[in-house]
Amino acid sequence: MKQLLACLSLLITLTVSAQIKVDDIGEGWKDSVNRAIEKIKESDPFYHVFLNANCNHISYTMASFSTTEGDSTILISTRQMKAGYVNDIASTLVHESLHLYLKRLGLKLTEREEELMCYRFELMFLFRVIDVEAWLMSHAITMINHYSITDK
Ligand SMILES: [Zn+2]
Repeated sequence: MKQLLACLSLLITLTVSAQIKVDDIGEGWKDSVNRAIEKIKESDPFYHVFLNANCNHISYTMASFSTTEGDSTILISTRQMKAGYVNDIASTLVHESLHLYLKRLGLKLTEREEELMCYRFELMFLFRVIDVEAWLMSHAITMINHYSITDK
C-alpha cells in the first residue's frame, strides 16, 4: 500500500510538472499565455487536461490567424497577442488544441468539417467562461454559421 501511494504521488508530480513550454519573446506575452492557460483551468478542467494532452509548445505567428505547427505546437497570432484579451487567447488555445487532436487522429475531414468542429468546441468552452466578452461568443457563432453553409 505504501509503495502504491509512493507510485501515485510520483505520477501526480510528473503530471503536474509536464508543463507546456511557452515561448518568451518579451512584451509580457508569456505571462498573458500563462494567464490564459490558468483561465482555461479555472473555467473547466476538461479543456485544460485536453490542452495539456495535445499541446506541449506554444509560440507565435505573424500570420493574421492562429494555427498549429507539427503535431503538438500552437502558434498564436501576434495580432491577438497585441490585443491582449485573455479570454480570446484562451479560446484560441482550446480551438487549436482540437485541431492538434484531429491531426493526430488522422481523420480525413474537409476544412469545413474540421473548422466547424473546432468552432463548436470553442463555443462550448466560452459558455464555461464566467466573464466572457459578448464579441467572442458572436465571433464563434458567426464562424459556425459560415462553415455550416454546405453549398459552396
Ligand atoms: Zn481552426
